[in-house]
Amino acid sequence: MRKRKSSFATTLLVGIFLAIIAGALYLANSPMFERNAPKIEVSDSLYWNLRKPIRVRLVDDSGIRHYKIVLNDGASDFTVAEAVLETPKKDVTLEVTLPRAGWNRRTTQARMHIEVTDISRWNMLRGNSAKKEVKIAIDTIRPSAFVLSNSYKITKGGSALVIFSAKDEHLKDIGIHTSFGKVFKAEPFYKDGYYAALIAWPVTEKRFRAWVEASDLADNITKAHVPLYLKNYRYRRSNIKLKDRFLNGKIADLASQFDETLNVTDPLERFKIINEDIRAKNEALIHEKSSKISDRLIRRWSIKPFHPLKNAKKVASFGDHRIYYYKGKKVSESYHLGIDLASVKMADVRASNPGGVVFAGYNGIYGNMPLIDHGLGLYTLYGHCSSLMVTEGDTVSRNEVIAKTGKTGLALGDHLHFGVLVQGVEVRPVEWMDSHWIKDNISKVFEAARKMIDRRERD
Ligand SMILES: [Zn+2]
Repeated sequence: MRKRKSSFATTLLVGIFLAIIAGALYLANSPMFERNAPKIEVSDSLYWNLRKPIRVRLVDDSGIRHYKIVLNDGASDFTVAEAVLETPKKDVTLEVTLPRAGWNRRTTQARMHIEVTDISRWNMLRGNSAKKEVKIAIDTIRPSAFVLSNSYKITKGGSALVIFSAKDEHLKDIGIHTSFGKVFKAEPFYKDGYYAALIAWPVTEKRFRAWVEASDLADNITKAHVPLYLKNYRYRRSNIKLKDRFLNGKIADLASQFDETLNVTDPLERFKIINEDIRAKNEALIHEKSSKISDRLIRRWSIKPFHPLKNAKKVASFGDHRIYYYKGKKVSESYHLGIDLASVKMADVRASNPGGVVFAGYNGIYGNMPLIDHGLGLYTLYGHCSSLMVTEGDTVSRNEVIAKTGKTGLALGDHLHFGVLVQGVEVRPVEWMDSHWIKDNISKVFEAARKMIDRRERD
């Protein structure tokens, strides 16, 4: 009898014991007792201009109960943020600003101490805590930035050269910003602290404004206007009537090559897709391949006028706004972003300046097309070629034959589509084919800048 009773007690004890273990395991794994400390998202060390708030993000699985942020200017502590959250949040973003009074404005090194606790019952109900100390270097001095020399004018659709100085102890970004959102990158030029950039006024932009912008690691920003005389230019607008022979000939041929038009049977729809969607895709590739510039210091950059085709006749101009009609109805439109040159069939196409081949292949409506990088963000392209003599990665020398003209892509007769790009923007080729324009707008600007830099660095 005794034996039985004792065995029952043992079972009961074991049962209770197991229940306690299971309960403890359940609690330990329940969100109420989670053991993950909150995360504090802010870099370990940063630069601060005292004006722009420092962003601190706190994240926790179960929810944040309490946080506290203290700034120290080297002498005193300032509590700049503290809260006990009645409704815990999983994600809190704080914008730390300077304390209202008492901060020592002369201090250059500061510290930020962050403490955060979550709502977990872990740690004897105290929750999980995280702490972080951030080193702050204070920099309230704006970079120095000014334009040294620039091309006197820029024509709508054209190019200009800008040489400027930008200096700061913690310089981060420099570039030439524009009213249409494009930022032109600059290359280090001649001596430390000086930069050169080719810029462009896209043919499709009505207005143009450019300024040098230099920023430092503490986000101090200096802007300097580029004083360019703006010359408007009225580009041709032509109305083109689409003929059935063209739609059923060249367009039908092209349509059979592209996935986008493979199953489209309507000739006008095919034309629209080729002239708009495929054109945009082909130009996106050109823009991408012609956007890069080097970050190496350039001492000298000289360029000769481009004459890609000997004894050529110009058959179409840059910037033509072409509007296509079919039976009196507007069907599509596009801009012609190069010039068309024609001579004999399969004529030699030459690189007038040395460079590196960044693309050589078939590019839709542009046909077989080499694209050459001449440095400083200047690129040239040669469309509709019948054959190519270069491959991507090649270096070409002045006057080297790079291709033969043809009518691949969206071209009717044998001709060369010659395009010039400045950091991914198509520009007026006539400027780069004119020795006077190059002398006045490029060579002299470099010369003037070099003289000014030599004088400044001597003093
Ligand atoms: Zn063309």
